[in-house]
Amino acid sequence: MERSTIVRVHEGLHARPATRFVKLAKGFESDVELVKDGKAVSAKSSVKLMLLAVKENQEVTVRANGADAIEAIEALIGYLENPRAGLDDESEAGEPDAAAVTAPPEAVPPAAATINGTPKLQGVAASEGVAIGPAFAHFPAEVEGPGRRLQPGEIDGELDRFRGAVSTVQQRMDRTLAEDNLSAGDRGIVAALRDIAADDSLTGEVEKLIREGDDAVSAVIGAASAIAADFSAVDDHYLNARADDVHAVGRQICLVLLGQDEVSLETIPQGAILIADDIGAWDLARAPLKRIGGVVCGHGGATSHIAIIARSHGIPAVLGLGEKVNELRTAREVAVDGNAGHVIVDPDEAARADFTRRVEAAAQERAGLTVFKSVTPTRADGTVIEVAANIGSLEEIEAAQEAGAMGVGLFRTELLFMRHMHLPSEDMQAETYGALAKAFAPHSVIVRTLDIGGDKPIAGIEFPDEENPFLGWRGIRMCLDRPDIFKRQLRALLRAAVHGNIKVMLPMVSEISEVARTRALIEECAAELKAEGLPHAAFDLGVMIETPAAVLIAPALAREVAFFSIGTNDLTQYIMAADRLNPTVAKLNDVTNPAVMSAIELTAQAGVAAGIMVGMCGEAAGRPDLIPAFIKMGLTELSMSPASIQRAKKTIAAMAAER
Ligand code: PEP
Ligand code: MG
Repeated sequence: MERSTIVRVHEGLHARPATRFVKLAKGFESDVELVKDGKAVSAKSSVKLMLLAVKENQEVTVRANGADAIEAIEALIGYLENPRAGLDDESEAGEPDAAAVTAPPEAVPPAAATINGTPKLQGVAASEGVAIGPAFAHFPAEVEGPGRRLQPGEIDGELDRFRGAVSTVQQRMDRTLAEDNLSAGDRGIVAALRDIAADDSLTGEVEKLIREGDDAVSAVIGAASAIAADFSAVDDHYLNARADDVHAVGRQICLVLLGQDEVSLETIPQGAILIADDIGAWDLARAPLKRIGGVVCGHGGATSHIAIIARSHGIPAVLGLGEKVNELRTAREVAVDGNAGHVIVDPDEAARADFTRRVEAAAQERAGLTVFKSVTPTRADGTVIEVAANIGSLEEIEAAQEAGAMGVGLFRTELLFMRHMHLPSEDMQAETYGALAKAFAPHSVIVRTLDIGGDKPIAGIEFPDEENPFLGWRGIRMCLDRPDIFKRQLRALLRAAVHGNIKVMLPMVSEISEVARTRALIEECAAELKAEGLPHAAFDLGVMIETPAAVLIAPALAREVAFFSIGTNDLTQYIMAADRLNPTVAKLNDVTNPAVMSAIELTAQAGVAAGIMVGMCGEAAGRPDLIPAFIKMGLTELSMSPASIQRAKKTIAAMAAER
C-alpha cells in the first residue's frame, strides 16, 4: 500500500524532521519505506532517511506493509504535508534542530616529557594579554582497532561486547540530555548523535562485519567510515557535515570497547592554556571559557573567528603556529604572549618570573581601567565618541554591559545562523534582535545582515564550489540572490526596531545598486508587515566599508546611507590582497600599512563631507595606538571586543585631557 505527496517540510528531511519522521514510523508495526526517485529506504532509519536527501517541494512516496499500514501512511503523509501539526514539545521559534555535530572534543592529558629546541615559538598575535599556565593539549587521537580476525567461538561474545558498548554510549547521551543546564543547541547536538548510535544502518553493518570475523573496534571503524563516506558523497553541505557525526559516534563506541576515557574541553583546569591544531569557533564558544587562561593554535589568524572569540572574552591567544604547534603536544607548562605573538614552552625560572610579573601587572591595569566603565568620552569639540561592542550572541550582552559598552556597533548575525541546523525563523530572529535592542536602549544596536561566504557553509543554503571564496558569493551578494532568506531577516529587523534603536548595515558592499536593491526589499517587507498587521518600525541603513570598491565610491555611497562602519579586517585583506586567514602572509595583513590607513582616511573624508556618521567595527577600532588617528580623521564611533572598551575610553579621555 502506498501514497505519494509533495514534501512541505521547510528544512527537508534533515536532522530533527528526520528524527520526528522516524519516531512516527517506529510507532507502527508495519514495514514502512520512503521512496524518492525510485530509491526506497526504511522509514525507521534516520541515517538512511537523511541519505535520501529529501528536500522541500520534492515528491516522495510512503509505502507500508502490515496490519497498521493505512494508519502509518496516514500519519506519515500527514507529517510530510503539515509538519507543524501536532507538535507539543517543540517550538520552531525557540529550539534549534538537531545541530551540526563535530566530534566531541577530546584531549591528550599533558605528558611528563619536555621538548628540546627553541623554547620560543612565533605565531600570530591574535588576542592581547599574557598568560602562563598548565598545558591542556587537545589533539584528538585516531582510534585504532587491533585488526584481529575472530575465531568462530568468539563471535557471540564480541557481538555482546559491541551491544553493551552501544548501550553505554546511549545511556551517557541520555544522561547528558537529562541535564538541566544543557542549552537548546547542545541538546540538539547530543540528540542527533544518540539517534545515530541507535540507528540500524550503523549497528546492523557492524554486526554483519563482526559475524564475518572482524573484531568489534575494527568493525565499528569500518562501518562508520562507509556510512560517513555516503554522507560525504551527497551534494549537500548539511549532509556532508553529518559524516562527522557518524565518525563521532563511532569513536565513542570504540573508546568504550577499548576501555578508554575521553577527555573533553569540559575538564580543562582553571587557568590552563588550550593547545590545539585547530578548534571550531563553535566548539570554542561552548567551552568553559572562564577557565581558559590562553589559547594556542596551529591554524587561524588575527581576524579568524577563534581570535574574535578569544578577544571578546579577554583570553590571550597566539594562532597560526602551523606545524610548530606539534612541539607543544607534550608541554607541561606554557607561557603565552598575545601581544608579541609568541609562546614559550616549559618556561625556565626567569621566564616564569617575567610572565608572572606581567600577568599581575595586567590584572592591576584591568582593575585601574574599571573607572572608565561609565565614562562618556568626547572629542575636543565636545562630540561624543561612541565606544560600542562587537558581539555575536545574546550571551555576550552581559560582558559588553559590564565593560561599559555604549551600544553595539556590530552584531554578527551569522552565529545565529551557524548555531542552528536550519535557517532561523523570522520569529526567532525578531525575538533575538528585539532582545538586543531592549538591552541597550537608548543606545543604538547595529545589526549586520547575514555575512556568510562559500568558505563557511550553513544549513539551508547551498553554496557553489568556489576557487576563491573570499572573492565570491558572500555577504550582501548572497543575500540579494536569496531574497527568501534576506527578506526573512529584514522583516525580523523591522519588527525588532519597535523595541529600541536598531540600525542595520550591509556587509561586503561593492556597488551602489546593492544598497538600492536592499532598500526596495525593505520597502516590500514593510508593506507586507503592514498588510499583515504586524507592528514594525523603520531603521537607519548603513554599509560596511570593507572592499576597495566601497572606498573608491564612498562619496556616492555616503549620499545613499545613514552611516559607514569601516570593517578593517576585510578591508586590510582586500587592500593588501593578503588572505586574513593565511599565516604566511600575516605580515602583509597589517592595518597600519599606509595603503590601508589612506583607505580609512578617504572613507572618513567622504562620510564627514556628507554629514553621516563614520564608525569602525574592525579589530583596529580597539587599538589604543591607532584610536587618536581615527578620531582625528573624523570617526565618531568605535566598536570593539568588550575586553578593549575601557582602555579605548581611557585613550580618548587622555586625548581630550591633552587639549
Ligand atoms: C571586518 O571585516 O572588519 C569585520 C568587522 O567583519 P568580519 O570580521 O566579521 O568579517
Ligand atoms: Mg568583514
